[in-house]
Amino acid sequence: MSTTLDKLRRRLKRRGLDALLVSQPENRRYLSGFTAADHGISESAGVLLVTAAGPSFLLTDGRYRLQAEQEAAGFEIRVYPRGLFPLLRRLFSSLALKRLAFESDYLLHSVFVGLARLAAEKGIELVPLTGLVEELRQLKSAAELALIEQAVRLNEQVFAEVYGQLRPGLSEREVAALIEETMRRRGAEGPSFPTIVAAGPNGAMPHAVPTGRLLAEGEPIIIDMGLKVGGYCSDMTRTVVLGQPDARTLAMIRLVRQAQRAGLAALRPGVAGRHVDQVARRVIEEAGHGDHFGHSLGHGVGLNVHEGPSLSYRNRKLLRPGMVLTVEPGVYLPGWGGVRLENMAVVTEAGCRLLNRDTTFLDV
Ligand code: ZN
Ligand code: ZN
Repeated sequence: MSTTLDKLRRRLKRRGLDALLVSQPENRRYLSGFTAADHGISESAGVLLVTAAGPSFLLTDGRYRLQAEQEAAGFEIRVYPRGLFPLLRRLFSSLALKRLAFESDYLLHSVFVGLARLAAEKGIELVPLTGLVEELRQLKSAAELALIEQAVRLNEQVFAEVYGQLRPGLSEREVAALIEETMRRRGAEGPSFPTIVAAGPNGAMPHAVPTGRLLAEGEPIIIDMGLKVGGYCSDMTRTVVLGQPDARTLAMIRLVRQAQRAGLAALRPGVAGRHVDQVARRVIEEAGHGDHFGHSLGHGVGLNVHEGPSLSYRNRKLLRPGMVLTVEPGVYLPGWGGVRLENMAVVTEAGCRLLNRDTTFLDV
């Protein structure tokens, strides 16, 4: 952990910042090892104050004191008996900060107002910052990659178990519940996002919410699921068919698979995220379905199921070894349904390494 903190401190110094207030919960965990989760942005389990020059603090409330002391090695634990601001006031006085950065992507406005008042009182300049810790998180350590691989492996075991039980007449909601129950029974911390099961026409919405619709033979069924192991996420999509798929369904699955293979072949260090998206998108465009692939090709995965870098037209930054990404092309036809296939891969020195082994998409 100390090397990560050192990197962050160097970046703060380069920007002329004396400290960073970390409020985003996965950033807090990444930097400190403190695993407590927030129950929404208004119920924070604490914040970090990382100074460029010296000590780092974990500010939390009494309920977390023991856990913080056990987990956040290298951080001074400060418990706030009367809320965050009296504690920050004392720290600001003793640390003599001049320029303090905060995470403008993740701070309640009401907290910002209190912070601004305190900063004005102490003569501190507040500097909004986005993406600094997130950027560090994009490059996975060996230990992080091992946890991600465990999550991917468990994800596939859960999928295989539930796949064997799929039959016409089960509802989307029942299948989603079965998946999430199986995750927990097999030792996952829980799902990394609400499981998507979208049968037939419901699959035309990339972010469909499971309904009471019953699975039927012959139609494509999108199952998009992820789980957490040691805080790290998996994310995998399969499109399955009960019974015999018709010619159109088969053609769509083959097309999406071809796009996915093209994307994985293009995924390597030194190319821009947008390049990988373009390569896979071209396959779908050339088949006349460019308008039916309305989302980006993929995203980073780590402590958050969606994090940087993205494989999208917006990302001009170059990929680097150690980044973990999804490759998930899809085709969505209103009234008919959808097909999406999603695997995860890690960028290596030479190209990329696929983290998935499941090949259920070859069965259909
Ligand atoms: Zn997914
Ligand atoms: Zn995804």
